[in-house]
Amino acid sequence: MIDLSQPETQFATGVVRQACQVAQRVQTGMAVQGLTKSDFSPVTVADFAVQAIVGRALAAALPNAVLVGEESSKELKTDEGRPVLEAVTRFVGQQAPEATEQAVCEWIDHGLSEPGDRFWTLDPVDGTKGYLRGGQYAIALALIENGQVQLGVLGCPNLGDQCQPDMGIGALAVAKRGEGAWLNVLVDPEDQFTQLHASPCSDPTQARIMRSVESGHTNVGEIDHIAERLSVAAEPVCMDSQAKYATLAAGGAEVLLRLLSPKKPDYKECIWDQAAGSIVLAEAGGRITDLKGQPLDFSQGRRLQNNTGVCATNGPLHEAVLEAIAAVCTLP
Ligand code: AMP
Ligand code: MG
Repeated sequence: MIDLSQPETQFATGVVRQACQVAQRVQTGMAVQGLTKSDFSPVTVADFAVQAIVGRALAAALPNAVLVGEESSKELKTDEGRPVLEAVTRFVGQQAPEATEQAVCEWIDHGLSEPGDRFWTLDPVDGTKGYLRGGQYAIALALIENGQVQLGVLGCPNLGDQCQPDMGIGALAVAKRGEGAWLNVLVDPEDQFTQLHASPCSDPTQARIMRSVESGHTNVGEIDHIAERLSVAAEPVCMDSQAKYATLAAGGAEVLLRLLSPKKPDYKECIWDQAAGSIVLAEAGGRITDLKGQPLDFSQGRRLQNNTGVCATNGPLHEAVLEAIAAVCTLP
């Protein structure tokens, strides 16, 4: 059983729940407008509002803790960003009445720390495109110690209570190293968690493969070849964000592939895109490595510099999937 009263676990589950509420309020409260980041992914008011909420709460609950977040307030301070900052401050203010534009920028920039021996990492809205299209997205918070994820929380407002993509209930998954992975609905006054177990399937033909909705985040052709090689019967399931990991952890699929996009063959994954999801799956009995079978190494800064893509499975299918990857993919 996981000890939910332990201060760090309590902080992480509490703040992710709060952050999900902000993201949902932004979604219903305004027609979501994207800013353009330097990598051209859409950034929303929710991204900044969530990082502000988490930065503020972390500074209050665990004053010595270090946060490595995806966002910075820099672009909010430009002429283009000003209307976004106003909106962010309004939404953050609904949960933190003391919010001013300056305070909000400071809370966001609490996440500008460099990764060290022990730090939190946050993806405020993982799957921004899913969020914009009303699909799956996740708020992902993890604690990393000496290059290993120790604690991870995924808030998935559009996943159902069995980690199925039925909209509107919301799922909260939490995992602590050695204490299992646990699931609750997003809003539960009784705080009743049930343990997550990955699928026991060991027959590759029965595997359900998950991949990104964004074809540019993977290699769709190679996924098809891997499926063919394993004689997988079902078509791949597309889903945005680390909600995929929660789905695997709940036994809703067996394989999650992050292959290298032909347009970005040197892509290195960001730590906040994999940290929380990977421990949720690992603690549910699944396995996560890179495409060459190497463990994910979270000790290399903001990206997984020592890894190539990600191969995540329910466990029993891992070796067969790695073998198919080696046969099909040209890896750097
Ligand atoms: P997903 O929703 O699974 O497509 O993953 C979303 C995450 O993919 C985003 O948070 C991005 O940081 C990350 N990403 C961006 N470009 C790439 C890429 N070329 N390959 C893999 N992941 C990417
Ligand atoms: Mg992300």
